Amino acid sequence: MSEPILFADLALSEPVLKAIQAVGYEVPSPIQAAAIPVLLQGGDILGMAQTGTGKTAAFALPLLSKLDLSQNDPQILVLAPTRELAIQVAEAFQKYAAELPGFHVLPIYGGQDMTSQLRQLKRGVHVVVGTPGRVMDHLRRGSLNLNNLKSLVLDEADEMLRMGFIDDVEWILEHTPATRQTALFSATMPREIRKVCDNYLRDAKEIKIASTQSTGDNIEQVYWMVSGTNKLDALTRILEVEPFDGMIIFVRTKTATVELAEKLEARGYSASALNGDMNQQLRERAIERLKTGKLDIVIATDVAARGIDVERISHVVNYDIPYDSEAYVHRIGRTGRAGRSGKAILFVAPREKRLLYTIEKATRKPITLMELPSGATVTKHRIDQFTQQITDTLKEQADLSFFNDLLAEYSHANDVSPEEIASALAFLLQRERPLQVKFTDIKPERERRDRDDRGGRDRDDRGGRDRGPREDRPRRERNDENMDRYRIEVGRNHEARPGDIVGAIANEAGIESRFIGHIKLHDEFSTVDLPTGISKDILAKLKKVRVRNRPLEISLDTGPRGGDDFPGRGKPKRDFGPREGGGREGGYRDRDGGRDKPRFNDRDNASKKSGYRPKKSD
Ligand code: AMP
Repeated sequence: MSEPILFADLALSEPVLKAIQAVGYEVPSPIQAAAIPVLLQGGDILGMAQTGTGKTAAFALPLLSKLDLSQNDPQILVLAPTRELAIQVAEAFQKYAAELPGFHVLPIYGGQDMTSQLRQLKRGVHVVVGTPGRVMDHLRRGSLNLNNLKSLVLDEADEMLRMGFIDDVEWILEHTPATRQTALFSATMPREIRKVCDNYLRDAKEIKIASTQSTGDNIEQVYWMVSGTNKLDALTRILEVEPFDGMIIFVRTKTATVELAEKLEARGYSASALNGDMNQQLRERAIERLKTGKLDIVIATDVAARGIDVERISHVVNYDIPYDSEAYVHRIGRTGRAGRSGKAILFVAPREKRLLYTIEKATRKPITLMELPSGATVTKHRIDQFTQQITDTLKEQADLSFFNDLLAEYSHANDVSPEEIASALAFLLQRERPLQVKFTDIKPERERRDRDDRGGRDRDDRGGRDRGPREDRPRRERNDENMDRYRIEVGRNHEARPGDIVGAIANEAGIESRFIGHIKLHDEFSTVDLPTGISKDILAKLKKVRVRNRPLEISLDTGPRGGDDFPGRGKPKRDFGPREGGGREGGYRDRDGGRDKPRFNDRDNASKKSGYRPKKSD
């Protein structure tokens, strides 16, 4: 690997550089290194990048560097498909602008109180991050003035297309100054997005970070889909049962190396941070200790771990997913040295799935789904350790006569059997770290489903062929007990598409798209499954939301109504009710796979408190 470009080489403004330093980023990610110089010079870009590549900073850092704080009309507008992304991007701007006094960024999305948005817009903001529908609203009302707009970013453009926003996006593009700079980011490049680029971008520099690298056959590669359990708890569970010798855990920031090292030390592991802030001598010392077995776990950033060659590294954990396949290959190459075998474990957040597929495709090796060790597995592991300790003590401790006498006397005096005494002692020994472990386990995502996803993804990537309309895709399992079926007064004859409906409901009612279920289009109306317990306020709001310029007029579906069509069905009776199992034709699958996410964390409090230090022989 060649020497990395540094943030300091990129002509970013001083306050922005200071903020990056505080956040703890060491070097720019590939998309940042490529996009920042172009955006700083005012050029347009077309970035093929997915979440996890550092794309937000790739546009936020250069645009903030050029910001004129004295001017209060929006200079930067970011369009994002969902409110969650809008909030996330606004937060990122806030973070990178920490050293810009008086800086204002405003996220605007449907479902949010209009009065407060209007007030803040009136007061003046430098950056607006919004969903297309709400941005259009403000433009129509005249409450958003884009006359002084310098830069427009279209974030996750393909997602906006899928959600039915592309016409809105084009409308907004038409209502911004022609002199603006435009940056478009999209994970895939369907025809419609390509058309937007052709029509609205000028001499855009195309940035596509792709590389094909191969990985050794001696490295077993697995991933865990982050869900239900937080990453630290998942990691400690893995550490407990994985037979590792030396381990490198990769994180993204210098700060995270230190934090994670401290947390693992507190849990009894011999762990140390390795980052670019440590001087050469300290870094070398840590690696030497890892080599000689005085240290078992090193938590490192990419830069600091460059070139580490330590034979006893049996495991690499990608706690934070790397930016691209090249970094991944470099990271996992730290194990499986000198002909040994190794194991690479990758944590993937649902939003980062695409990056996983990219890595898998680029390395041409399957990365298989792993399940977290269950309570039963951890229990078995602890029992094995415990019984081994008994065996070792009996074998190695030459003279136990003092204890023999003590317990014989106790047994006699109290009339209890040796087994009972042994049980009491065993109980005492494990109190801090119980042998019987029970996790509140969350059902892991099934490999099969995951493969379904990959199939779709592959088709996407091949020559940009889109996956087709959402309603054609297989439906995910959904617990229908938790869903109600609603009727909306827009249908096929009004040219509504499922994407339009999802987009409108997600952004205007603030219901995350992953909680929006089965959508079925009919000629004059449609039905949509939504989580039970939607408040009256939200329903009132949804009644007025427009799709294809028609109000949804949403109402709880009570079954078939006369005069409309039921394609493919002779008698549309009961099976149209709210508890219908759902056919394959009408399923809507969101990007997280439409799974209701569990919202609690399981914890192994006992092992946290124990201060247990696993032995190498464990
Ligand atoms: P994004 O692809 O924009 O969603 O960013 C993914 C994650 O990478 C975010 O948590 C960022 O904070 C982080 N990140 C972005 N740029 C860098 C960098 N240069 N070094 C370390 N982390 C970064």
